[in-house]
Amino acid sequence: MIKVDISMALFLYLLATAVFMLVIWSFFDFGTKLKTFSSEEAHIWHCTICSYTYIDSKNEEISTCPRCGSYNQRKQKMKNKQARR
Ligand SMILES: [Zn+2]
Repeated sequence: MIKVDISMALFLYLLATAVFMLVIWSFFDFGTKLKTFSSEEAHIWHCTICSYTYIDSKNEEISTCPRCGSYNQRKQKMKNKQARR
């Protein structure tokens, strides 16, 4: 059996606690950053007619511009259409 004195045991206990806290902290911090980024990015719209930036959380595919009333489509869909041509 491996002999461990009190200072080595204390060091191992502190190291295990520090690693555990680091893992927990990074896990929760990573999750919140991902959530805020995805939710903000999904609701921001840029009008192609008047270049007005607004937030619309109700619609996902097509949104109506509150300033000029034109319909706007998702940016990623337009990029896909341009790539197909
Ligand atoms: Zn507009």
